[in-house]
Amino acid sequence: MRLRQFLCPECGSRNTAVSREQGSVEYTCHDCRLSIIRRSVRKCPTCGSTDLYYEAGLITGQKYHCKHCDYIGPLVYEEDVEERKRN
Ligand SMILES: [Zn+2]
Ligand SMILES: [Zn+2]
Repeated sequence: MRLRQFLCPECGSRNTAVSREQGSVEYTCHDCRLSIIRRSVRKCPTCGSTDLYYEAGLITGQKYHCKHCDYIGPLVYEEDVEERKRN
């Protein structure tokens, strides 16, 4: 695995690490213990809710179902969200 570095937005340190996992990337600063997690979330195209679940059908194919507005279809938004926390 290749380690990459980034400039910490909080303390300016380069004593950092980037780790990739499926669907998300985590940036960690070893100096101030900041973690930034970036991931993409799926959103309903009609109401914007993230409360979606995935339905797999044999004939109809794969579809998303929104719990909020009852939208059913193959199209959803993907949006990147960023979450910061201190370890
Ligand atoms: Zn830092
Ligand atoms: Zn919806």
